Amino acid sequence: MSQASLFHPEVSRDRPITVVTGGSGFLGSHLTDRLLAEGHCVVAIDNLITGNTRNIGHLAGNERFRFIKHDVTQYIFVPGRVDFVFHFASPASPIDYLELPIPTLKVGALGTHNSLGLAKAKGAKYLLASTSECYGDPLVHPQKEDYWGNVNPIGPRGVYDEAKRFAEAMTMAYHRYHKVDTKIVRIFNTYGPRMRLRDGRVVPAFIGQALTGKPLTIFGDGKQTRSFCYVSDLIDGIFRLSQSDFHEPVNIGNPREMTIEEFGRHIIRITGTRSAMEFHPLPVDDPKVRQPDIGRARQVLGWEPKVDFEVGIRETIEYFRTQTDQLDAFAKG
Ligand code: UDP
Repeated sequence: MSQASLFHPEVSRDRPITVVTGGSGFLGSHLTDRLLAEGHCVVAIDNLITGNTRNIGHLAGNERFRFIKHDVTQYIFVPGRVDFVFHFASPASPIDYLELPIPTLKVGALGTHNSLGLAKAKGAKYLLASTSECYGDPLVHPQKEDYWGNVNPIGPRGVYDEAKRFAEAMTMAYHRYHKVDTKIVRIFNTYGPRMRLRDGRVVPAFIGQALTGKPLTIFGDGKQTRSFCYVSDLIDGIFRLSQSDFHEPVNIGNPREMTIEEFGRHIIRITGTRSAMEFHPLPVDDPKVRQPDIGRARQVLGWEPKVDFEVGIRETIEYFRTQTDQLDAFAKG
């Protein structure tokens, strides 16, 4: 006799049942939407320390969706069949790791172990959300998956970088030793609706500053580079990876690289703000360059990004214009 499921048997019959940890966060909620659109039943698990139920509010009452408020560093209990586990739970902004260093380490280490344990127990496939931070402040440019990185383990970002590197090692160990069907995506800077305005990352920071007439806070000389991927492109790459038989890490990101100063100029131009730029000290271990080599994603997944920066950033700005409560709080803070 199988355990009772979270879904009515009529609803889940012939459909994959998929667990998304971090399911009410920025990426987890977009992934959940995509999986539902693909016909899955989805169980989102989140402890809401950086996620927000606002991101999944539109799914209330959906018979193929369930939400469990739970900290995945504790044993994860999901009754019944599970076919796929996506491990997306983690603080993901440099400011969050400064405020939450130990939860960041724990979710990358214990949360990965528990979610892999869930996949193993259920015979489910598994996908780990890893990161370009595995490459640290890279000495190879652009970054290819076979580069082992330049990471400071004891710096303020080390809590995220090393937890994710451990998570990759743990995932490969479950693959090799327990034969779990695992995949690893290394996610580069991604932006779009549902980011938190105050999460400290450069996209919401500059948009929030531009929309509230505050100076744009450029860290360092603004010559450091990032490559920004629109969220729908990223989710498409991740979905394709989940359907593949590829077990080694795959970079997903947009190779269009720009300096942070150039990014700030785009935000000033598109919003039409009168805000100026203001220079601040560069955070410790801030990578000087970052650009994904997406040759592997092209070859293995037939994937490449489609959304032009100008289109994606306008969508994102329009989204933040609608977030009046967040904008009010941003203006005051
Ligand atoms: N940055 C900035 N001003 C801000 C926030 C970030 O100049 O208000 C810079 C930051 O120093 C980094 C880049 O923008 O060089 C991207 O930072 P983010 O926090 O978005 O993520 P990271 O790519 O560093 O993980």
